[in-house]
Amino acid sequence: MTKTALITGITGQDGYYLSRLLLNEGYRVVGLVSPHRQPNLTKLGTLTNQVEIYTVDLRDSTALLTAVEQLRPQEIYNLAAPSFVPDSWNDPLGTLDLITGTATRLLEAVRKIGLSTRFYQASSSEMFGDVLLSPQDEETPFRPKNPYAAAKLHAHWTMVHHRQRYGLFACSGILYNHESPLRPPQFVTRKVSLAAASIKLGLTDTLEMGNLDAKRDWGFAGDYVEVMWRMLQVDDPDEYVIGTGKLHSVRELVATAFESVGLDWTQHVIINTNLLRTDEHFQLVANPCKAKRNLNWEPQVSFEQLLEKMVKTDLERLQSGAIAPLPRF
Ligand code: NAP
Repeated sequence: MTKTALITGITGQDGYYLSRLLLNEGYRVVGLVSPHRQPNLTKLGTLTNQVEIYTVDLRDSTALLTAVEQLRPQEIYNLAAPSFVPDSWNDPLGTLDLITGTATRLLEAVRKIGLSTRFYQASSSEMFGDVLLSPQDEETPFRPKNPYAAAKLHAHWTMVHHRQRYGLFACSGILYNHESPLRPPQFVTRKVSLAAASIKLGLTDTLEMGNLDAKRDWGFAGDYVEVMWRMLQVDDPDEYVIGTGKLHSVRELVATAFESVGLDWTQHVIINTNLLRTDEHFQLVANPCKAKRNLNWEPQVSFEQLLEKMVKTDLERLQSGAIAPLPRF
């Protein structure tokens, strides 16, 4: 029997990689997109014709319940979120409603209809926030520091409660930063890859950066959707911390990206103190041992390979005219 997977946030970075994986595994893949947004299906590229798109307002409990009842998916992946964290300060209530509300509405739909659907919630390392211990694992206390993280934490606990109280097969991945050529340019990895490609082609000369000492645990999105899927294939639903376990500074990020196209970053990067963030947390790094032990998962793409992939894709995009060059500073 063909399995049906329902994905919210299918037009995002993870939505693309997850759809690709599920299609390869022979699933029928259905994505829910909002009637109030212009769905950016271009990110799905050649997958667009292989997935089914349903237009459903994620804030509408009845519409969601109807969609789940009609589709009766074997698996649900709840990925939709306004994922650029600083934006959550501009709309804390909307962030809460989308992130927490969608998780709750989907879990309630599964419970009320009485399905045995397996549910994945996209939790975030941001929930650890102001960490007191490094690295973090599944026992680390949560200390969220922004509306996005608080909403993710509420959704996470709702998932746990539905598993404990109602016996639903509900899981979550507490994911650290994961990147790919599909990251939007407001994220630092893509900002850097796009700048390295633009400078290499002589389209611009400089890159403005903030704190080069900030550190993150960065992995490749393709590896991380693999573990989302694995969580739903084992017998016991659980929560997992997912990251590489390695910290890299923004300085290393810039140096590695620039070196991948033979550039010396020190000749091009200028520090703009206006870009310094006030809420930097320096030791947010995963201990992914449980995922390795229970799910036999380890990241396959290294930091260097990830950045090389991102810069190479941006070079190709700029050369083909698929994206506009960065403005000259
Ligand atoms: P992304 O590329 O920003 O994709 C987010 C998706 O959510 C898009 O499909 C977007 O649709 C949709 N969305 C946003 N606001 C919406 C709204 N109001 N109504 C309906 N849909 C909406 O994010 P991602 O990197 O794939 O991340 C996937 C999930 O993992 C997110 O929940 C994110 O918070 C979480 N996460 C990501 C990371 C990471 O490093 N990438 C780390 C931890 C957790 P549009 O195409 O219409 O914008």
